Amino acid sequence: VSVKECSVNQLIKGVLSFSAAMLRKQHVRVRLQLDNALPLILGDTEKLKQIFVNLIVNAAEAMPFGGELVIKTATLKDAVTIAFTDTGTGISKEEKSKIFNPYYTTKKTGTGLGLSISLQSIMLHGGKIEVESVPGEGSTFTVQLPIAQGSK
Ligand code: ADP
Ligand code: MG
Repeated sequence: VSVKECSVNQLIKGVLSFSAAMLRKQHVRVRLQLDNALPLILGDTEKLKQIFVNLIVNAAEAMPFGGELVIKTATLKDAVTIAFTDTGTGISKEEKSKIFNPYYTTKKTGTGLGLSISLQSIMLHGGKIEVESVPGEGSTFTVQLPIAQGSK
């Protein structure tokens, strides 16, 4: 793995530019709320992009009739937070305890690996992920990643 200082905002924009066609096709409107003063983080850009792609694809798949995806970056103490909020199906409390398990999927052709791999990758970066959801209204997945020392 190659770890270097990277801009989360730029990674998000990059991932969105190659997901744009898929999102348009699924009638997902994207609203970006990127903190312009966001500090850099230390990470493997390919792994970080994979995490963001997984969360964006899951959000789109939770909105089969279209909807809105808000991606918001912010600083919280010594971490950068990236929140993905969708207006999709939501996740019940019972289901929430399983979604990070490998091979857990509710989709006909899902692998159930996206979130478990993302969680591992986030932990290797020293970060964490939290989920908030209201069934029938939508979900927010918030990733926290530590700020690179000296870039604050
Ligand atoms: P897959 O997408 O292949 O099913 P994931 O590990 O990415 O596997 O997700 C596991 C399960 O978590 C999904 O099948 C779905 O039930 C649930 N899930 C993940 N993200 C969302 C979301 N944004 N909204 C609703 N449910 C979600
Ligand atoms: Mg997935």
